[in-house]
Amino acid sequence: MASTTIYTGHRVVVIGAGVAGLAAAVLLAARGLEVTVLERAAAPGGKMREVAAGTARMDGGPTVFTMRWVFEELFAEAGAALGDHLALRPVSVLARHAWSERERLDLFADTEQSAEAIGRFAGAAEARGYRDFCERARKIYRTLEGPFIRAARPTPLSLAAGAGLRGLTDMWGVSPFATLWAELGRHFRDPRLRQLFGRYATYCGSSPFLAPATLMLVAHVEQAGVWLVEGGMHRLALAMARLAEAHGARFRYGAEVAEIEARGGRVSGVVLAGGERIAADAVVANADLAALAGGLLGDAARRAVPKPAPERSLSAMTWCLEAGTSGFPLARHNVFFSADYAAEFRDIFERGRLPAAPTVYACAQDRDDAGAGPDGPERLLVLTNAPAIGDRRPFTGEEIASCERASFDLLRRCGLRVDRRPEAVTLTTPLGFERLFPATGGALYGRSLHGWSSSFGRPGAATRLPGLFLAGGSVHPGPGVPMAAMSGRLAAAQLLGHLASAARSGRTAMPGGMSTR
Ligand SMILES: Cc1cc2nc3c(=O)[nH]c(=O)nc-3n(C[C@H](O)[C@H](O)[C@H](O)COP(=O)(O)OP(=O)(O)OC[C@H]3O[C@@H](n4cnc5c(N)ncnc54)[C@H](O)[C@@H]3O)c2cc1C
Repeated sequence: MASTTIYTGHRVVVIGAGVAGLAAAVLLAARGLEVTVLERAAAPGGKMREVAAGTARMDGGPTVFTMRWVFEELFAEAGAALGDHLALRPVSVLARHAWSERERLDLFADTEQSAEAIGRFAGAAEARGYRDFCERARKIYRTLEGPFIRAARPTPLSLAAGAGLRGLTDMWGVSPFATLWAELGRHFRDPRLRQLFGRYATYCGSSPFLAPATLMLVAHVEQAGVWLVEGGMHRLALAMARLAEAHGARFRYGAEVAEIEARGGRVSGVVLAGGERIAADAVVANADLAALAGGLLGDAARRAVPKPAPERSLSAMTWCLEAGTSGFPLARHNVFFSADYAAEFRDIFERGRLPAAPTVYACAQDRDDAGAGPDGPERLLVLTNAPAIGDRRPFTGEEIASCERASFDLLRRCGLRVDRRPEAVTLTTPLGFERLFPATGGALYGRSLHGWSSSFGRPGAATRLPGLFLAGGSVHPGPGVPMAAMSGRLAAAQLLGHLASAARSGRTAMPGGMSTR
């Protein structure tokens, strides 16, 4: 945000303290607006939440922290330094991957180290394929960062104009219509490597068999840096909330917004589930787009937003547990692959059922990237992908038990024993995620990115109702902690832009004074 005008007396309500709501709250409060954040949960963070299991508390949501620059810029815009609020350590081992007890592969932050490991694992040709893949992923990322990720509302045309001919040629050395899976076949012959890099589609809640090849950029994002947040990812949410508070924002927890009100053709405030009215000149909604479009926040909000694309992204089954482990040298991030990746995604997206043979992610939260950890029980987040049908039907006890068996059996076949005690396990199903994030069915990443044009299907921050802005993983530029934070930043920028243009034209769209630093 280039201008430093300070706005006073403008009342903004932010609905939701997910990372996007927090980003908007920080930036708007730093510019002098009167910000009130209303959050239905008991703490900030949204999906970046802390979960209790046994005697422990642990991250129950995101665990991979990337694109640190997004937060450095955000904190700097609010006059603070990220490093003063959060201790971050870069990892050298990005993740440990396993297919069986004998087949293991580590990926490293250092591309050459990864290439050597891939060479030892699958041969020199695959190592060359990996180097080409990295170069392609880097070019795609470089092309998209400005005209897509940072842009308010990109279209295929604006992207073409912003990227320039060179950028587009770099990016579309792959066909714009190719799927990630097909493109990976051009770089890797070994199906295990195709599976490993195809998994990046799931970071956006999508299937590698349907997602566009441009999602290769996720590989570059990881190589550009993964950090461990001391104390857990949830600390990031706490740090952002504290920063917003330091600039005068007020946070109310256990405060569920039931309706966004409009008067005279623009936003006038919100009504809480208990009936309390809070007047506002602008509202930033961090609830899922599906909740607004489905009428959960009233008619004015429903009419103001477009219908989301029909297909939901992935949900998950997550087990947070405190348990003894043995047999497998766990790193911080570990992935155990199923034998048939295509079948897994068919189960989820075509059959709407829990995968019979899931791929399993395990985050060993007490370990560093190299694997050093505690002697006794440790904190694990174990995750498998699942269909987002939490609002349609709950899974039966037998379905859940069978998914759990399949997941932990795979770990055992790969050499990892996890000594689970039922009293130290907290399970969250798609139904549980639906309850936490209403109208999503438990989808964790908004809509799926299936098809080449899907990236352009997400709305930007502005809506048809003046004064109402959107922020979150279901709007542009999409899900993931840094991307959602970017969307909060874009929402704040649009809101301030509207204020500035109202001031220039002499309108008093929002009451209150204005001064310039
Ligand atoms: C298990 C899991 C693993 C993940 N792993 C990663 C990862 O490793 N790396 C990564 O970058 N991303 C990961 N993600 C995705 C990432 O967590 C999300 O994309 C991001 O946190 C979404 O942020 P958001 O701003 O959209 O808000 P959300 O987190 O969706 O929060 C929205 C908030 O709004 C509140 N709210 C909704 N409706 C109302 C209402 N009516 N009134 C008041 N409050 C309301 C909700 O309670 C919630 O707190 C993961 C997500 C999950 C669940």
